[in-house]
Amino acid sequence: TAATTHTDAVIVGAGPVGLFQAFQLGLQDIRSHIIDALPHVGGQCVELYADKPIYDIPGIPVCTGRELVAQLQTQIQPFAPTFHLNQEVTEVVRLDDGLISVRTSAQQHFICKVLVIAAGVGAFQARKLSVEGAAELEGTHVHYRLGDAARFAGQDVVVLGGEASAVAAALKLTLETKAPRSVTLMHRRDVFTAEPVLLQAMRDAVASGRLQLQIGQPTALLSTSNQLHAVQVATPDGQTIERPAQHVLAFLGLSPKLGPITNWGLAMERKQLVVNTETFATDVPGIFAVGDINTYLGKKKLILCGFHEATLAAFGAAAIVHPARKTLLQYTTTSTELHRLLGIA
Ligand code: FAD
Repeated sequence: TAATTHTDAVIVGAGPVGLFQAFQLGLQDIRSHIIDALPHVGGQCVELYADKPIYDIPGIPVCTGRELVAQLQTQIQPFAPTFHLNQEVTEVVRLDDGLISVRTSAQQHFICKVLVIAAGVGAFQARKLSVEGAAELEGTHVHYRLGDAARFAGQDVVVLGGEASAVAAALKLTLETKAPRSVTLMHRRDVFTAEPVLLQAMRDAVASGRLQLQIGQPTALLSTSNQLHAVQVATPDGQTIERPAQHVLAFLGLSPKLGPITNWGLAMERKQLVVNTETFATDVPGIFAVGDINTYLGKKKLILCGFHEATLAAFGAAAIVHPARKTLLQYTTTSTELHRLLGIA
């Protein structure tokens, strides 16, 4: 069991609202740790529309999802929140002394004074392969991330998917020094979505015979005493064929799962956390909810609204973290105290 981290605030979710929450907490002289299930920050902005333009962020006429997240990262730098990516917050418990205990899927443990849940539509998880036999073979013969490629040395690997993640993984496997015996990229159509250079490298690998291309859909995984030996495939011309494989790597996209949040004993309505609009506190003292995860009369799931919620939640958090201080409204333009916190001379 890992050591326990004691901190002022923990933020669940590094989407745009979780990131801006760290800024607003920082202005209130509150340090924070941010946890996200994804390996990168930015939530939906990066996961779902990184290169699409956003037009309704005040003061920024247009920017892409990725650009907004990059700007937010720059903006929160003065407060240097600690990031813990690639792990899900699994357990939240309010202790008798009013502190909050937070545990993650990577066995991290935090004790904090306030918790802000900025979990959006939930933790993004790999969409699972829904063919016969896939669930039983998960982790041994069916995988949802590349991980250590050396474990596939000398074996037959089928990579499923039509996006950049699938193309990149298939290519990487063909370039390993301890390469698999065969690598097959399989997708239902001969159409792949990735950067032109990646697509060209993939076509070159197919032309040279290092990579095999199979158009079709997997219909079953064929195994004997839990050892995978082939993937059954339905081809576009209506045939059923078998492809030898000891491993299947599936990149079928990510889907959000609300996950453990429903078990934390917080009041919910239609899968969202109920908050009061004065401080965006949930019904449990010390626990706030901001962004797409919350609900209240008039709620709109917009980034701008999440930013406003994060601002008021920070005032609510300040009353708990610094109970003896008066939390007066101060302007970043003129307040020497805020300039000190922001590290501006
Ligand atoms: P999210 O962005 O969903 O981030 C939540 C994060 O929490 C995720 O990274 C998730 O992995 C993490 N998480 C959840 N549960 C856990 C857990 N238990 N443990 C660890 N991590 C967890 N809004 C606008 O204002 N303008 C637009 O133009 C606009 N365009 C959009 C276009 C598209 C295609 C989509 C899908 C949405 C658009 N939106 C737009 C909506 C906007 O993206 C959301 O309102 C915004 O992302 C909400 O931010 P958030 O930080 O609350 O949540």
